[in-house]
Amino acid sequence: MSVFLPLLQKCRAAALLAAFSCVLAAPLQAAEEAELYEASYRGLAMGTLISARLIAPQPAVDKLEPLLEKKLEEYETLFTVHRKGELNAVNEKAGSWVAVDCRIADLTEKAKAVARDSDRAFEPTIGTLVNLWKIGFGGDKVPARADIDKALQKVDYTRIQTRHENGRCSMKIDAGQSIDLGAIAKGWIGTALIADLKAAGATNVVLDLGGNVALLGQSPAGRDWNVGIQRPDKERGEIFAVVQAADESVITSGAYERKMQKDGKTYGHILSAVTGMPVATDLASVTIIDRDGARADGWCTALFAMGSEKAVQKMREHPDLGAFILDKSLKKAWVSKRIASRITLQDPEIELTVVP
Ligand code: ADP
Ligand code: MG
Repeated sequence: MSVFLPLLQKCRAAALLAAFSCVLAAPLQAAEEAELYEASYRGLAMGTLISARLIAPQPAVDKLEPLLEKKLEEYETLFTVHRKGELNAVNEKAGSWVAVDCRIADLTEKAKAVARDSDRAFEPTIGTLVNLWKIGFGGDKVPARADIDKALQKVDYTRIQTRHENGRCSMKIDAGQSIDLGAIAKGWIGTALIADLKAAGATNVVLDLGGNVALLGQSPAGRDWNVGIQRPDKERGEIFAVVQAADESVITSGAYERKMQKDGKTYGHILSAVTGMPVATDLASVTIIDRDGARADGWCTALFAMGSEKAVQKMREHPDLGAFILDKSLKKAWVSKRIASRITLQDPEIELTVVP
């Protein structure tokens, strides 16, 4: 996660001027019920573009954008391992118990559960390897095998210890280990922000944290939101499917994201806890729909890393997972039965199999 940068654009519902294209000044809903107003937000956080549509009655709508900005900063600091913060302190003091905010201990427990259930395709102690490869943050060569093997010895989520005592929490990892919650924290943050915005009076929200979408309610028109899924082979904004969703997170991991090119080979940013190498997946895109954004995000990375065969097997074993996956040929896709009726493909060439 990167440093919180200044906002690119700000609009407030109070600015009832047509000049602000991002402000919908007109009431969205008429009659006896409270009139709804929309504000929008665009900013940079966690190394990605954040955007939101924030809908609420007056005066609540005016408070949503500053609240979102403040909470984004708070949550990024909580979970970052790239600058000063409480989770980072666990890494810096590896080998000792460190007091942490209980939200960190709770997300770590969730990360351990996903690691266990995904047979370590998702591994929250992958940090030692991430810091060796540095893919997406300056890495430009394949590390020596001996260094990869040394790092691999420190990759083991079962050695993370968490303690809850009288409302206080602490954590400990082994010396040399490094926790990285980057593949699950954004999902948690999406769900947490939606709860914060709801508590502040928001009625309907679409929050996009760079491919991680978190939703509050339905659209103001009373229908599920339509969330477009990015085509892995095309420019940002071009979609291959539409997912209908409400009051949940829609999280997508794609092969189009951070990568390193070296000697004609492409290395993606998801690493294997078994080989120590970037995973050689045959999947191009994985989407998970879940009320729990953290669970969706963690499993999204896990299924992506597993590849289609094992991912489909996991989808069978866990019918509660709402997963939609597309292979690299962009011709074959699979969807969990639970969410099958909510997916509309935009490309007739894709053959979709429903996983019971
Ligand atoms: P994004 O969608 O922002 O790319 P992901 O949810 O895919 O994020 O997580 C990517 C990050 O997860 C990597 O940058 C790295 O820090 C971390 N990571 C890499 N490999 C694994 C893994 N096997 N298990 C858990 N986290 C990983
Ligand atoms: Mg993830």
